[in-house]
Amino acid sequence: MTQRKIIDRARSEGRNLLTEIEAKELLKQAGVNVIDTRLAVSREEAISISRELGFPVVLKIASPDIVHKSDAGGVKLGLKTAQQVGKAYDAILSAVRKQYPQAKIQGVSVQKMARPGVEVIIGMSKDAQFGPVLMFGLGGIMVEILKDVSFRIVPLAPRDAREMVKEIKGYPLLEGYRGQEPVDVTNLEKLILKVSSFIEKHPEVAEMDLNPVFAYSDGAVAVDARVILERVN
Ligand code: ADP
Ligand code: MG
Repeated sequence: MTQRKIIDRARSEGRNLLTEIEAKELLKQAGVNVIDTRLAVSREEAISISRELGFPVVLKIASPDIVHKSDAGGVKLGLKTAQQVGKAYDAILSAVRKQYPQAKIQGVSVQKMARPGVEVIIGMSKDAQFGPVLMFGLGGIMVEILKDVSFRIVPLAPRDAREMVKEIKGYPLLEGYRGQEPVDVTNLEKLILKVSSFIEKHPEVAEMDLNPVFAYSDGAVAVDARVILERVN
């Protein structure tokens, strides 16, 4: 589906939150490396997709009404067998139905478990004065507790992307520490610039984040994406 169609379909259904699968599809078309993610509408389909992708896999709730999938009991990581996938499918649906009885559930998304990397976050929000602003930071506690993030106004020039990566306090973690391989920072800068140009082309996007992106010594991959559209009256 084209970017336009994905957005129009969400709007025609009266929703502002795109699903993880839709958000990743938009980003993929914008040249961002996202982990291949498919929708399963039954337990059996979740198992057959897992076999196609190859184990270990991750299952996540696919619902346009759920913003934080883990909080809803909607994420199961590192599933190694068909049996584990089947159990995870049932567990996700029952946890989410219990917590959010009203939520419309499309099914469950299936993706490969990404190899470990440094988790980073790229976010966009709109400032009343400056318009769209990009945020960059390291995933997990670095952003949530330490607020170690940098901001730049969209559109970004290559130099902005370079600076915003370098100026976070956690930058040494990207350079490699305690024998860990350094992250391909140039690739991260390119990723930030792709997100910037995506946002420039899509003023109808109110808010988005790639959280997390796994950064490696040889590239990066977004394993989760969230896109919220502007309301239309
Ligand atoms: P949400 O942010 O809606 O709770 P995520 O999709 O971000 O859900 O999943 C929660 C966490 O699970 C992520 O922060 C990441 O650490 C891990 N995770 C998600 N998808 C993958 C994946 N494909 N491979 C490895 N880890 C993943
Ligand atoms: Mg996430």
